[in-house]
Amino acid sequence: GESVVIVGAGQAGTLTAEALRGAGHTGAITLLGDEPCGPYHRPPLSKAWLAGELSDAQLMLRAPQMLEKKQIALRTGVRVLGLDRARQLVHLDDGSALPYAGLVLATGAAPRTLALPGAQAPNVLALRSRDDAGRMAAALERCAAAGLPVAVIGGGFIGLEVAATARKKGLRVTVLEAAPRLLGRVLAPLLSDWFAALHRGHGVELVLDARIERIATEGEGGEAVAVQLADGRRLPCGLVVLGVGVSANDALAREAGLACEGGIVVDACARTADPRIVAAGDCTARRLADGGLLRLESVHNATEQAKSAAAALLGQERPFTATPWFWSDQYERKLQMAGLSAGADAWVLRGELGGAAFSVCHYRADRLVAVDSVNDARTHLLARKLLDAGVSPTAAQAADTGLDLGGLLA
Ligand code: FAD
Repeated sequence: GESVVIVGAGQAGTLTAEALRGAGHTGAITLLGDEPCGPYHRPPLSKAWLAGELSDAQLMLRAPQMLEKKQIALRTGVRVLGLDRARQLVHLDDGSALPYAGLVLATGAAPRTLALPGAQAPNVLALRSRDDAGRMAAALERCAAAGLPVAVIGGGFIGLEVAATARKKGLRVTVLEAAPRLLGRVLAPLLSDWFAALHRGHGVELVLDARIERIATEGEGGEAVAVQLADGRRLPCGLVVLGVGVSANDALAREAGLACEGGIVVDACARTADPRIVAAGDCTARRLADGGLLRLESVHNATEQAKSAAAALLGQERPFTATPWFWSDQYERKLQMAGLSAGADAWVLRGELGGAAFSVCHYRADRLVAVDSVNDARTHLLARKLLDAGVSPTAAQAADTGLDLGGLLA
């Protein structure tokens, strides 16, 4: 069989390697990662792992022996610096080059930075890798010991999860969100408001419409000591968490002349324009049937695209058709999102807002397009089935908790 090289040993890269073996690929598979350790689960880095409730061993995605057994050659601590498509080579940072017959780009994404005075201070931290999380855990400990508050810039999923974890540890936390509501791009307004109340109820100081002027630094090390707002407020802190989104790691592809638009452009089967190169996960932007591009940053997306990418390298078409889903854990609440809510024009509440279990159903032109569930796994799973099947309950049906939505699938 032919040799496949995979750049990026994260969720998408690892699952592509396994899917290739699963589909009977007999050639060499080399999984290259620039992090010091093998593949691990990223989601707990802002949740259970950061809270100290999960061990390093439990964080691992695959034990090294598992990969060995599948004859997947994992190389850690090695960075790919460039691609040579004409000669079918990848150039590594140790000066060597590796030939490929098939190439998988699974390089993930990198946290965005802020062009703000003080943003370079050593205690202004973003969170993507296990190393990042280790630094953040240590910084949280220092804040706890010194009685210093934590400032979180960005009320997105990672910012809010870190805020919840820091509150669990008893730290004082302020969340600064530039938009007028939390998670405004994905949640319905009533759920944004509910999340704001959830955090405030847990003692988080929440500033919406936040205008940050600068991060004030002090001393020789230039440590951040406060966040200065444009309205004059000064929020002292011992740590600034940056949760302002990510950008796709698409530089390798772009420099090699592959189309990139906020991510490596792939079709529904994870193919680039180069028949020998596929891409999967956070580094991609998927071309949709209507011509638009879809960028998703989720475990599910990485997992599905990995299957498509492996199939494509074996000459098969396995388009991405599944309904996207995502989750987030904050305090004792689990949010599960199914479908894509962009462009929704109406919302229906299923259950009682803030009740033990409830869901918000998003409608666009009278069709169900997404469902966000809070501690409501049953509705979440049914929603995925309904959306997969293209079955849309009416708004009245969605609101009727006495009605078994599963019955509509028959
Ligand atoms: P990654 O997992 O980022 O893997 C890419 C790998 O490639 C990295 O190890 C990177 O270092 C490496 N790499 C990059 N460039 C090179 C190079 N040139 N050479 C060698 N190696 C390279 N998703 C959910 O669905 N639910 C959640 O609750 C959730 N929580 C999250 C919490 C946190 C803190 C973070 C950071 C992410 C979370 N996500 C969550 C998102 C999810 O983790 C990502 O969508 C997923 O990891 C994407 O997988 P990937 O393989 O595309 O990228």
